[in-house]
Amino acid sequence: MSEKMRAAVFEGNGVLEIKEVDKPVITKPDDVIVEVETCSICGTDVHIMSVPPGYIAAPGTILGHELVGKVVEVGDRVTSLKVGDRVVTNPNDYCGVCKYCQKNLPNLCEHIIPMGIEADGGFAEYVRVSEKVAHKISDDLPAEIAAFAEPLACLINGVNKIPVKPADSVLVMGAGVIGLLFTQIMKACGASPIIVSEPAPMRREFAKKCGADFVIDPFTENLEEFVLDKTGIGVDYAIDVVGSQMWTGIKAVRKGGKVLLFGFDGKAKLSFEQYHITNREISILGTWLANASFPQAVKILESGMLNLEPLITHKLPLEKTAEGIEILGKGEGIEVLIYPNL
Ligand SMILES: [Zn+2]
Ligand SMILES: [Zn+2]
Repeated sequence: MSEKMRAAVFEGNGVLEIKEVDKPVITKPDDVIVEVETCSICGTDVHIMSVPPGYIAAPGTILGHELVGKVVEVGDRVTSLKVGDRVVTNPNDYCGVCKYCQKNLPNLCEHIIPMGIEADGGFAEYVRVSEKVAHKISDDLPAEIAAFAEPLACLINGVNKIPVKPADSVLVMGAGVIGLLFTQIMKACGASPIIVSEPAPMRREFAKKCGADFVIDPFTENLEEFVLDKTGIGVDYAIDVVGSQMWTGIKAVRKGGKVLLFGFDGKAKLSFEQYHITNREISILGTWLANASFPQAVKILESGMLNLEPLITHKLPLEKTAEGIEILGKGEGIEVLIYPNL
């Protein structure tokens, strides 16, 4: 009889159930079994759990994709990892052989299998991943800090697309954990001023602590005027962490400015005249998942360059996963972590 473990299983239609399920076993020679230390809740989990969903996940899947854990078992052909290693994981397992993988764009792989969406994820005592998506991380980092590796790797993939230099101005739209990470990274790059737009007062306070020079509530103030007032011509870069703010970004950047689209909202539809992009030479850049940016993210975390401790608002046991997703969805938490082995 197979061993059992506890896991948070998505049942469809906004339902998440804590269940006893089979503990994952090695099925392929490059498989690795990881005992989850902690797994943080992502905005994607909120979209998956909303009704109707803003992001589609397969019912019957264990959610969770931002985890850190210890290797407890390795397949026969695993060479880079051994039992006892601590790892963070790229949840988007790629095939390694399609045209995109060959172009070193594993985030755009044609056969991607997303953990915690289609394959079983980290809101569980154990998870199975393939060796190539598990990246070693120092044992010295607290688990809750190491758990930032996945969102940070996605964010670094975006940052690599905008050549921010000291004194470049930046607008960050949305101050959930990703927006706050962007704020800290932009600060580390020397950007100034950094303007953060966010309707939730608590998150605006966090944005200030993360290095925002100015914060604004876009629901009560005119963002476009505010940005013009602070920069004279508009920002060099606007980053949409929300997934629906492209038009706001286009209006906020200066001529020749760049709008980085990071957030994902499956329901967002926009309508505007195309010439606003053409005759102001605006660049619109999409960025998707982590593109070979895990090593960079791990290095940043291990360097202690970022101040992440203050972003951690909730540490919850597995039983409270649905509650945690709700807290994040309501904007009442920043980094909400699930500890499946508590
Ligand atoms: Zn995520
Ligand atoms: Zn591929």
